[in-house]
Amino acid sequence: MTTVQDPRHLARLRGAARELAAPLREVAPAVDRDPGVLPELVRAGRLPWREFSGLPAAYHGAPIRVGGRPTAADSCAEQAVVWEEMARADAGVALGLPGPAMSGFMVAELADATQRERYYGLLASGRPVWTFFGMTEPEHGSDPASMGTALAPDATGRLALTGTKRFIGNGARAEIGVVFARRAPGPLGLTAVLVDAGRPGFTACPLDTVGLRGLELSELRAVGVPVADADVLGRHLRASRRGMWAAVRTFNRFRPLVATLALGVAQAAHEYAEQALRPAPGSRRRYRAHEFADRLVGVRAMVGAAALAADRGAVSGTAASAAKLHATRLAEELTLGAVAALGPGARFDHPLLDKWVRDARAFEFMEGTSNIQRLNLAQGYLQERDRRAVAA
Ligand SMILES: Cc1cc2nc3c(=O)[nH]c(=O)nc-3n(C[C@H](O)[C@H](O)[C@H](O)COP(=O)(O)OP(=O)(O)OC[C@H]3O[C@@H](n4cnc5c(N)ncnc54)[C@H](O)[C@@H]3O)c2cc1C
Repeated sequence: MTTVQDPRHLARLRGAARELAAPLREVAPAVDRDPGVLPELVRAGRLPWREFSGLPAAYHGAPIRVGGRPTAADSCAEQAVVWEEMARADAGVALGLPGPAMSGFMVAELADATQRERYYGLLASGRPVWTFFGMTEPEHGSDPASMGTALAPDATGRLALTGTKRFIGNGARAEIGVVFARRAPGPLGLTAVLVDAGRPGFTACPLDTVGLRGLELSELRAVGVPVADADVLGRHLRASRRGMWAAVRTFNRFRPLVATLALGVAQAAHEYAEQALRPAPGSRRRYRAHEFADRLVGVRAMVGAAALAADRGAVSGTAASAAKLHATRLAEELTLGAVAALGPGARFDHPLLDKWVRDARAFEFMEGTSNIQRLNLAQGYLQERDRRAVAA
């Protein structure tokens, strides 16, 4: 029987995703110049957003066809393959496509039946719908312990959301998303709420960025945004299974995908460099092609293992941290190695490579910096050592 982890299934899925993703590369320079054009391109049918929506099978209107059969590709192992191919075409455009993205993981973890229907029903409506995941703040970064956004009763006693979120992907084009806020002190006081962008008191504006510009990082502002009990995710769950717990699970599940996006950029730059350096054997020797080719294979295996661990419900996220750490480093070293080998002026002469250098750098900050991944790895190692010591 074929499973979602079957290497033959994943190889066929890779082929199908590569073919479908080709238009992303065609529009990449235009979107990099002006990310505001991306929604127009989507609405004009220039990009295959429905196939890549990442919606669960029950809501997926246009699944990718693999070997003639529709595949929702909603496991982490499948998404790692699909997202690598999308990023190989263009990571900025891929991340800028409509769909559930990170907020979808929170909904999958925490939403009750009504919230699911509201969120997925909107996303499955047939028109493109963008979403956001609002955690990071201008004053407190992505550290949940010091989060300033508050969910508290207003003067009339109704729940209201107040605070600012920054560096939020697709924020200014989104219709709905998840915002994290503090409802009470301590780790259990963190809550995630579903917010419609049209609510009174809610505004979003795009930020000017350098890398992954298609994602249109934005700032979200909430000033007394009314929140109903029906918006509070995990309201039917006990406090220890709500905000922070689900956020950590979301990060663990999303991190292999960030790693695979960095890998896709590295793969694209490698193929480009090999081609561009062909007529110049001297420069080609400077590029360390064999080393990069080996590392691409190694990092792909790490990403695959991390995705598999996430599908099996791994709670530690150690494999995902290792994959993200290595994928980010590879993307940065490879893209910079390619421009160095191509010599002075390479970033002007090869705008795609210039773009990939900028995009590769953005992965360092997305989903936790390398230092944070190293801390996760150290914690994972120590916990495993303690577990073995107790078992022995
Ligand atoms: C492309 C992109 C997309 C993003 N999308 C979203 C989004 O959709 N939603 C969202 O909420 N956020 C998003 N972010 C924000 C991102 O998640 C955070 O910027 C990232 O997690 C880093 O967190 P921080 O800003 O708090 O920095 P910090 O974690 O505070 O890091 C700042 C610096 O301090 C170092 N550092 C921090 N702690 C330690 C430590 N203990 N030991 C050693 N060094 C340390 C870090 O390595 C880094 O150099 C996005 C960012 C990018 C670049």
